[in-house]
Amino acid sequence: MNSFQRVIAKIMHGYQIPQGMAESCREELYKINQARFGRLAPLALAALTVILAAFFVNAFMAGFEGPVLAHIIANSAYLVFLTCCFFLWKKQWFVDEKLFKFFVYTIVFISLFWTGVLSVLEQNIACYAMGILLFSAVFTLNPRIFLCLQLSILLSLLATIPFLNINHFTILSNYINISFCTFLSVYIAHLAFCSTLENIIKKITIEQQNLELKELVVKLKDLSETDSLTLLYNRRKFNSIMREEWRKAVRSAASLVLIIVDVDFFKKYNDTYGHLKGDDCLVQISQALKSNFLRANEFLARYGGEEFAIIMANSGINEGVSACRRVIEAINALNIPHRQSLVSDFVTVSAGLMADIPKAVDSLEDFINCADQALYDAKKTGRNRYVVADKAWNAIIER
Ligand code: GH3
Ligand code: MG
Ligand code: MG
Repeated sequence: MNSFQRVIAKIMHGYQIPQGMAESCREELYKINQARFGRLAPLALAALTVILAAFFVNAFMAGFEGPVLAHIIANSAYLVFLTCCFFLWKKQWFVDEKLFKFFVYTIVFISLFWTGVLSVLEQNIACYAMGILLFSAVFTLNPRIFLCLQLSILLSLLATIPFLNINHFTILSNYINISFCTFLSVYIAHLAFCSTLENIIKKITIEQQNLELKELVVKLKDLSETDSLTLLYNRRKFNSIMREEWRKAVRSAASLVLIIVDVDFFKKYNDTYGHLKGDDCLVQISQALKSNFLRANEFLARYGGEEFAIIMANSGINEGVSACRRVIEAINALNIPHRQSLVSDFVTVSAGLMADIPKAVDSLEDFINCADQALYDAKKTGRNRYVVADKAWNAIIER
């Protein structure tokens, strides 16, 4: 297939648009044509006004006779039509996509027919040639519709030429020139349409890929912050929240609470019931904790193997103590049998609590160590209980 056949085949059979992109392509083409119409219409209106003024000056000097009068009437009618189109478009009154397309194709048709008639009458193809090249290059018109418009104009012009009082050679050259211009403009319209379509498809593809990438980044971020077993925040996320809340608390002199929770005799649990049961147990515990810490200022994370951490922003020792009670009661209420536990027939947890209003000179590591130390003391002093740490490392048993 040579390139001419390819162009004809594309015009006849349509342009290939990847599946699912047709609607977006149509919208983009509409946007492009609207923008171009917005830029071209004021220029065309200004040019028409100047032409009309020139005809009026001419008519005042030479009289309102046949051809000049025809020019004035035709130009005025066209000016009014174009002004109406422009204002309707500008105010966005009644202009939906179909009406806009109708405007554009009507403008193209009238302009080309008018310039074609002028070219034939004045034996000068320049006016028609300029018109068709301008419209085929400026608007991204569907080459099929453009071809139909062009052919209807071409055929009516070709049919008229023999009846004009001109010699055979001029008739022949008019035939050739007008036909050549028509097919050249259809070819230009085809090229413009193809390249715009290609750019639109590229743009849409890039946008889709960007969207997929963004979703992937969000998914990856979630994955990197989530513990896969319990679906709680993982240790990495805990560290970043802890640092952030610590900074906020220092800035606003607010009290901050950290509770570290550890399952009692969990190694024995695994040894007795198996690792999979152990996993189940951790999931149940994490869900029980989750349902108890849903507020915006509370953050729950899996701190380690069978350890969980709870950060409570803008909370003091009282809120921390009641949170520890809630934790221990919630896990007791699960009633998960643990026959090897030395403190209960069921799975229990111990907790260490640290609460403080941190200052800029204080260390976050010390704060965390205090909660850890309190947990250690809770273990040492019997388990299934919580201990509140004080800053001087003198843990006080609360339960
Ligand atoms: P204590 O009361 O002093 O905390 O005793 P413990 O047995 O709970 O503590 P230890 O640190 O000796 O054992 C913790 C156990 O937790 C050991 C490890 O196999 C288990 N563990 C850690 N992560 C997981 C997990 O993801 N799944 C299961 N099933 N077990 C885990
Ligand atoms: Mg532990
Ligand atoms: Mg443990």
